[in-house]
Amino acid sequence: MKNIVVFMLFFFLVFPFFGATSTSAAKSFSHVELTKKEKAFIKAHPVITLGTEKDWEPYIVVNEDGSISGFDKGVLDKINELTGSNFQLLPGKWVEMQKKAKLRQIDGLSTGIAHEERKAYLNFSDVYSIIQKMMLVPLGNPKNIKSDRDLDGKIIAVHKGNMADEKLARSFKNSSVLECATIEEMIKAVVNNKADVTFGNGGTLFSANKLGLPYLQIAYPLGEYLKFVFGVRNDWPEAIGILNKGLAAIPEYEKNQLRRKWLVGDVNHDPYIDSLRFDADERAYLSGIDYISMSIDPSWMPYEQIDRKGQSTGITVDFMNLLSQRIGKDFRLIPTDSWEQTLSFARERKCDILPSAISTPTRREYLKFSSSYISFPLVVATALDKMFIDDFDSVADQTFAVTKGYAAIELLRNKYPNIKIIEVEDALTGLEKIHEEGVLGYIDTVPAISYQIQKNGMFDVKISGKLDLIYDLSVGVRNDRPQLLSILNKAIASISYEERQGILNRWISVHYDKGVDYSLVWKVLAVLVFFILLLLYRYNIISRYNKKLLLMNSKLDSLYKTDRLTQVFNRYMLDSEMERELARSVRYDTPFSVILLDIDYFKRVNDIYGHHAGDTVLVAISSLLSISVRETDVLGRWGGEEFLIICPETKLDGAVQLAEKLRGKIEELHFPVMKENVTASLGVAAYVKGETGEALIKRADAALYRAKDGSRNCVIVAKSGS
Ligand code: GH3
Ligand code: MG
Ligand code: MG
Repeated sequence: MKNIVVFMLFFFLVFPFFGATSTSAAKSFSHVELTKKEKAFIKAHPVITLGTEKDWEPYIVVNEDGSISGFDKGVLDKINELTGSNFQLLPGKWVEMQKKAKLRQIDGLSTGIAHEERKAYLNFSDVYSIIQKMMLVPLGNPKNIKSDRDLDGKIIAVHKGNMADEKLARSFKNSSVLECATIEEMIKAVVNNKADVTFGNGGTLFSANKLGLPYLQIAYPLGEYLKFVFGVRNDWPEAIGILNKGLAAIPEYEKNQLRRKWLVGDVNHDPYIDSLRFDADERAYLSGIDYISMSIDPSWMPYEQIDRKGQSTGITVDFMNLLSQRIGKDFRLIPTDSWEQTLSFARERKCDILPSAISTPTRREYLKFSSSYISFPLVVATALDKMFIDDFDSVADQTFAVTKGYAAIELLRNKYPNIKIIEVEDALTGLEKIHEEGVLGYIDTVPAISYQIQKNGMFDVKISGKLDLIYDLSVGVRNDRPQLLSILNKAIASISYEERQGILNRWISVHYDKGVDYSLVWKVLAVLVFFILLLLYRYNIISRYNKKLLLMNSKLDSLYKTDRLTQVFNRYMLDSEMERELARSVRYDTPFSVILLDIDYFKRVNDIYGHHAGDTVLVAISSLLSISVRETDVLGRWGGEEFLIICPETKLDGAVQLAEKLRGKIEELHFPVMKENVTASLGVAAYVKGETGEALIKRADAALYRAKDGSRNCVIVAKSGS
């Protein structure tokens, strides 16, 4: 009994922190160091107003209630959050805004380009958005326009007054030009076939969608780029420093998220991804090497390790695999025995990169650092009987264990000059140290600590507090390889939010779900709740902790059962339900079937209506499915736009009937956000005695594949057995 209680405590104390890390994984943990001057500047200028054009969606969106949103707003909000500054947008007529900025009636401009003539009165920030000009055609590209050559004899619609566009259009000697007074008119001209093509960018597609005319698509990109910067009056240089530091600190995945939210269109047309086309220098560098060599921390799970077979695995290794694909070069492991040795290999140029390095002054002597691709706050793990640490400052003069050579040591000594640090070999040794007299805790990130607690059954350890220090993981690159650094930065910028989340989910939640017998967990949780209540009653623990624990309980519950977007079971729950159903079927000799459902042409939904609309469709379809299946059926999200339904006590014909019913219902479902309805293809398979769950799903998947190969929007029955 005592063991169970301790075991449960582990779940309570460790799991919720996971919830916190993974649900807020999208949140920025980055922070920015400002100079004294910059801090004073922010104090002296509580609001800094940047003028912009009111009609320039989606960079600026003026909502009906007068509030402002849009891409620029998103970026400035992030900068404000990271630096403590307060940059605000003032939408109006662009010509007037420029005049006002010149007269210093406002402080600067947003959504501008660093034109020479503006330099007389403004300083400019780094580029925060690059848009590429594109050729836009009606949906389906009826005239099959794929390059400049196909413009012969075609009509190009242009927005009158846009000098650059007019000039460009007239440079196509064999085409005619149709001048349009407004952007709306221009879009309509193309949609209604009065013109064949027009120039535009993500913003044009956004406007088209907003006008209820989502019937444009990109034909091909033009070579021209517009680079947007913020401009601030040139007697305020500190403002530019603050803007640039803020911009640099926004993690790439957050920038990607903002781009996806506002700059409509397939991510493949995102100019940042186009930028993966390396420049001549970078290409020359790549063609001169066979592979990129890396050394990792041999034992820092779940981030990275060298396993018994000598292979590298972990979160950062998965990120490197992705980068390797993007770059088209192998990343080869140069093995080391300890993190200290890894650092010395980097110093001695025995390897090109360290996949997970944190930038510190000493390391900057021999490494340059890419932009960060994930970040985690540092936390303290203590013995179970220690109090929670609400405010780390109050214990900052005590003794803590930290792994030798970790950046945490440098970060801690800088921030807390009185801290006493015992350097230990690795996380495990550090966690053992906390039971020694005089050592308060071990400092590392949550995933690293929890991994050891779980792996070694250290249920007498808990995570007691969070520090104000962040581990921003970036790739450390030997500092005599500038091309490699810029290549890696481009590849990191191309990692999408989904890809990043996929990697984190694989290592963070899966790890803890694996091998858990859920029925036992429920029993255990029931006992735990009882135990906690008893404890609260007996010791009358401060109500704050009481609330915290109960909240954690409910978070824990949904955290590992459901898919966050659709609120149906997640993949891990499906796996475990599948196992249960198999066991039941074998034992009681009952039939059961599975249905695998995949939405047709879903990528198109995202491309045309945006990712947000795609999400809405997924949510609507999963609720439709969940109200349409039996109570005893198990429904879950199998992957992106695929759902799995396990139907207990159901033979093949019953499952086919259900599948057909679901197919019909989806076909009829109308989405207010979209013009057309969506359809789905379904593969159905009934369990054949003796086969594994995997084999069963494989058969359903093969049937689904045949449905996709054929007409889609249909139900196909799996072939029995293999
Ligand atoms: P098919 O008929 O062959 O299934 O075509 P498809 O476009 O549906 O298939 P594909 O597998 O090429 O594309 C699936 C798309 O689903 C790609 C991905 O962007 C999108 N997707 C996956 N997960 C999500 C999500 O959570 N939200 C949104 N909005 N889209 C998602
Ligand atoms: Mg699909
Ligand atoms: Mg699919």
